[in-house]
Amino acid sequence: MSNQEQAVILGCKVDMLTSSQCLARIAAWVDSQTPAQVITLNAEIVFQAQTNPELLQIINQAQLVTPDGIGIVWGGKQLGYPIAERVSGIDLLESICQAAPAGRWGIYLLGAAPGVASEAALQLQRRFPGLLICGTQHGYFQDADVADIIEDINRSRADILIVSLGAPKQEQWISRYQGEISVPVRIGAGGSLDVIAGHKKRAPGWMIRLNLEWLYRLLAEPSRWRRQMVLPKFVWLILVNKYKVAARSR
Ligand code: UDP
Repeated sequence: MSNQEQAVILGCKVDMLTSSQCLARIAAWVDSQTPAQVITLNAEIVFQAQTNPELLQIINQAQLVTPDGIGIVWGGKQLGYPIAERVSGIDLLESICQAAPAGRWGIYLLGAAPGVASEAALQLQRRFPGLLICGTQHGYFQDADVADIIEDINRSRADILIVSLGAPKQEQWISRYQGEISVPVRIGAGGSLDVIAGHKKRAPGWMIRLNLEWLYRLLAEPSRWRRQMVLPKFVWLILVNKYKVAARSR
């Protein structure tokens, strides 16, 4: 891949692709049954990766890292990378489900509280007629259950595994079991299943368009404020990085 398609933000690679380009990559991996990990990267994960070398390595070894979150788009622009648009986990999941029936792709949903993945499956099948959901499993399992869960995932013969365990747990889980999972495309999708099942609301369209989805989530779930305190620290790190690069090139 040429460097023009890839940004590096605080040591984390980000593929500067549009949603439809991401979907095309995923389609190619499904067609060739090539193993691929997809990460929808946000500022919180980048910040955590600064002090977690294992997470940094997982990000940089993933086959596709999408810019999820205005923090990444803004940070990229500050560092001179023209990131065109956000590609969030839920948008990617919905566009996959739209394309899946024609390509006969099978999808497995893993994660969220008991019952949520199967409700999300019903909602998706209602919205996208002909969609094949090969299996579902909630995300509150013990380590002792993992072997059985992976067996069920593999037996389902799905093409795409959606893992909604929250970031970075889902990225670490996918990476840890990559050698045992035979479903080719594995995507970390955060809270998407809760939204699709109707348990959580997504921000209204106007807030998404104004890049205020983070504010909506903070207002809807005030308990997230501690997590979102990372954002000003992320902004600071980006600005320090930007001025260091500028000083070096003077
Ligand atoms: N979750 C899970 N297992 C766990 C921890 C979390 O299945 O052990 C689920 C949780 O129920 C929720 C999702 O992971 O559906 C995380 O959602 P959140 O909105 O916090 O995700 P993020 O902000 O990381 O996208």
